[in-house]
Formats: sequence, C-alpha cells, structure tokens
Amino acid sequence: MRSVARWWKASEEGKVECTLCPVHCTLKEGGIGSCGVRINEGGKLYTYTYGSLVSAAIDPVEKKPLFHFLSGHKTLTVATPGCNLHCKGCQNWEISQIEKKEILENPFYRDTFVPPETVVEKALEEGCKSISYSYSDPTIFAEYMIEVSKLASSKGLKNIMVSAGYINQDALKDIDEFMDAYSIDLKFFSDDSYRTYSKGKLQPVLETIKYVFSKGKWVELTTLLVPQYLDEEQLEEIARWIANELADFVPWHVSKFFPHYKAHDLPPTPVEDLEKAYRTGKEAGLKYIYVGNLSGNRHEDTYCPNCGNSVIRREGYRIIYTDMEKGRCKSCGYKIEGVWE
Ligand code: SF4
Repeated sequence: MRSVARWWKASEEGKVECTLCPVHCTLKEGGIGSCGVRINEGGKLYTYTYGSLVSAAIDPVEKKPLFHFLSGHKTLTVATPGCNLHCKGCQNWEISQIEKKEILENPFYRDTFVPPETVVEKALEEGCKSISYSYSDPTIFAEYMIEVSKLASSKGLKNIMVSAGYINQDALKDIDEFMDAYSIDLKFFSDDSYRTYSKGKLQPVLETIKYVFSKGKWVELTTLLVPQYLDEEQLEEIARWIANELADFVPWHVSKFFPHYKAHDLPPTPVEDLEKAYRTGKEAGLKYIYVGNLSGNRHEDTYCPNCGNSVIRREGYRIIYTDMEKGRCKSCGYKIEGVWE
C-alpha cells in the first residue's frame, strides 16, 4: 500500500532525500529509490510497500539464524518486496531485487495491504512467540515493521529483525524501541567487497551492530563465506572485531555459500574453508561459533564453554535434545549466554 515515508527531507527544486539508509537517494519528481519501493511524488517521499506482504511463513527461530534466543520456538516471519542492497548471490532475489519500473506497473504494490493486527493475530493463533522481519531486508519496510512490532510487543510477542544492518542511525533508533533480538549479516570486512558484491559499505553495518548491542538487545551475526570476496584476513578481522568491540559470547554463524542469482560464476564454499573459519573464531576467543548450511556437521550444536558438554544438540534447525536447566549447563552449572525460557 502506498503511504508517506517516515525518514526523508525535502531538498532543492522538488527533490527529496531519503534518510532511511546509507544509500541516501536524492530523488527528483517521479524518481524511484535504489531499493525499488520508495518514490518522490509531488515533493513527498512515499513507500509503496506498506503492508504489501509478499511472503509469510512460520519458521523455527533457528532458521533466522538465532540459536540463543528462546531456542526452539516458532516465529511468524513476514516480508515485503525490495532491498536496499544488491548482493550478487542473493538467495531471495525474486522478492528482493525487483525492477524499478515494477513499482509503477504492478498493481500489487498499491492494492495489497495486510493490517498489522492480522499479522499479530496470526502469530498468536499459531502459537508463535515472536514475529520476525526477514527474507527481503526489513529496512525497506521499516514503517510497517514498527507498527507490527509495537502491536506485537503489547500482546506479549517478541520481535526479531533479520537484516544486513544497512540502515541509518535515526531510523534504527526508532525501530529498536520494540525490537528484542537481531540476526545481522556481517558479510565482509572490506569496503571493496561490500561495494562490488552488495553495492554497500562496511562502516554503517558495524555501526548498526554496535548500536543494537549497546542497547542490550540479543545479537547474533552471520557471515556467508563467499569465495573470492571473503578471504582469511577478513575472517580474522571479523572474529577479532566481535571479540573486542562486542563480546566473546556473541554467537557467530559462518555459513556455506551456494551460487544464486548473478553469482553462478562462483563455486560453493569448500568444507575446509568452513572448518578454517570455525578455528579462526576459536582463536579469537569466541565462545559460540556455528557452521551453517552444511548438514550433519558437528558445529551446529551448542557446547558449554566451561566444560565442553553439548547443551543443545541440533540437526539442521531441529533441536534433538537440550541439556540445560534455566539457561545453565546441567553438567557444570555454567550460565550459557542467551535468552532462554
Ligand atoms: S531506503 Fe531506498 S530510497 Fe531510501 S536511501 Fe535506501 S535505497 Fe534509497
């Protein structure tokens, strides 16, 4: 649904500057933002996807991935189309990488609206404990996300933002008010890789992560091991940055890359590179490192950092057993960092 956007300012001669994300689009009359869903009409900025849900599904929270946040619960996940980044290997490119002309030609944008009340009611009906904003990047539907999360919070549901973290601080502060947990991609530790692979920059992502962590929100980070764009040096820098700038208990998910969209020239991540990344995290002192997108590997489990006991055994997104009580390792009593029942 078309709705006036929240973060923008008028600039000269009827132009508007969108201040939602670091792309900072300046749009003349009729101009469409890089995300494909925001447009200058009559000197005002509009979002065309307010409540235009293109995807909704009930997932285990582990799929976000969040392994230390109310582990094992069901989360209703919603998305609208568009994205402010343009990753070569986007696995959800069909909904995220829409063509600019679509916003004007496809009546879906104007006509589709799912009220926040419907999303919240559905989550409650289905026994979900949270609502997740994901699949595309929820930054581009921030106004809607805030309305849903506010209502969800008043009904006792938690809110989870799954994002690349490419957002400006003013908007992030508004979003954060009702957000409980974040799963954020820290894709690279190089501006060059961010620019050439995603059409983004590193620094705003680091600022997002530091901000939400400083607010005491539960944060887990994911790095997809994209061959040729992410080298060992970057992995070491990421691991050290997490340990030094955040904390050693922040879970780090290192995931296997598979080629999608415009990245079919790249190979899948070799298994030995995933093993190496795991060791890199350990050497930096991180307590919880997970290897994702690699079925049956032993680094899907949560191990007690004190005694090594397997406190959560997983198979993919499924929990096989837990050996914790009130968030503590049953074997040695160590308090496993996270948000538990
Ligand atoms: S949200 Fe969209 S329109 Fe706004 S600055 Fe980012 S890419 Fe441009």
